[in-house]
Amino acid sequence: MPQIDDKLAPIYEQVVSRNAGEPEFHQAVREVLESLGRVVAKRPDYLEDALIERICEPERQIIFRVPWTDDAGRVQINRGFRVQFNSAMGPYKGGLRFHPSVNVGIIKFLGFEQTFKNALTGLPIGGGKGGSDFDPKGRSDGEIMRFCQSFMTELYRHLGEYTDVPAGDIGVGAREIGYMFGQYKRLTNRYEAGVLTGKGLFYGGSLARKEATGYGNTYFTRAMLQTGGEDFDGKRVVVSGSGNVAIYTIEKVQSYGGKVIACSDSGGYIVDENGLDLDLVKEIKEVRRGRISEYARLKGEGSGVYFVKSGDGAIWDVACDVAMPSATQNELTGKDATKLVKNGVQAVGEGANMPSTPEAIRTFQQAGVKFGPGKAANAGGVATSALEMQQNASRDRWSFEQTEARLATIMRDIHDSCYETAEEFGAPGDYVIGANIAGFIRVAEPMRA
Ligand code: GLU
Repeated sequence: MPQIDDKLAPIYEQVVSRNAGEPEFHQAVREVLESLGRVVAKRPDYLEDALIERICEPERQIIFRVPWTDDAGRVQINRGFRVQFNSAMGPYKGGLRFHPSVNVGIIKFLGFEQTFKNALTGLPIGGGKGGSDFDPKGRSDGEIMRFCQSFMTELYRHLGEYTDVPAGDIGVGAREIGYMFGQYKRLTNRYEAGVLTGKGLFYGGSLARKEATGYGNTYFTRAMLQTGGEDFDGKRVVVSGSGNVAIYTIEKVQSYGGKVIACSDSGGYIVDENGLDLDLVKEIKEVRRGRISEYARLKGEGSGVYFVKSGDGAIWDVACDVAMPSATQNELTGKDATKLVKNGVQAVGEGANMPSTPEAIRTFQQAGVKFGPGKAANAGGVATSALEMQQNASRDRWSFEQTEARLATIMRDIHDSCYETAEEFGAPGDYVIGANIAGFIRVAEPMRA
């Protein structure tokens, strides 16, 4: 079991005592500190000037009240968050998550991961994250709009294209970004296109942004497979989730000849042994905003198609060659990993943020499964957000092909720098150590300067 180096243990203890009751944040910090022992052994200068302590403490944390009126005319109160984690590399950058599980610890873990992820892209963006415990499920368009406007009425004063640039995450897509951008524009009387990314294509959004996280994870995972002379062609693939990340992962994996047989939502998972019908998944999720169980109903159960209710089993019970968890944090446990290994999984590419528990990661790595951690594998989304900022700053618009080509190069570079860094620090093939160390050095250097 990986340990935190003695020199770094006090930093971890301080993070735990200073951030009581935030287990996800402790988990994310612990994983990075476990990797950094190798860095300080070679480069003790990184212990100077409290560089590592500083990286673990957000620069600024904003918590605010979000009052809004529901369709019945009742006033509802939610809590809003923005954690501006690190601006050494550029303006804070990272998504907004609207989900009932959101609290300050969740946002802090996401902001911490985002800092390293953004550094790995090689683009000038710092790390941040925000969101609310607002539950968009079952809410009307009008309720979503009023919530977004109220949320932005407080948040706008903390944002700016050179200050902090949010985007989407779970529960926040182009619709929500549109409502928030409109409110920002009214409050500031500025057409500041680069203040939010993931915008609609008619007002400054980037082509390929919607696809970017899923495509990017597919490029990254393919690059891992290729180091062993393998590819997606003919592989059985399981992708959890059915949001933006999952849908465009499925699309790209299919284009490489992979057979994606399962995906899920919070209600359960569907299996289609013939390979998922992606048009149907898109119709259910993107057009109707419905439940994934409808897939089995519309296709007709039997002939290799079935639905398993959540609670009755995990999507990771489905045997596959490649697993791409693309739903949420800690969705893949040690037990799930043991099952996947037993069923012969060869590679895991994380589309979500921290979807595998520490036990799961250990199980994969001990079994020699190629494991791509989210902060590297899912960086394509935020990288393309940075490309959207570039297009906005130059008042330009790139083609889909041009944007996707940049994304592919960025993902290849992230893969190679994780791979090479792991080798340089004596952990060949360990993408967790590679990503943590490469990301850390890129953030620590400008902080020191
Ligand atoms: N929410 C995405 C992430 O976790 C994208 C953030 C962004 O585009 O700013 O990286």
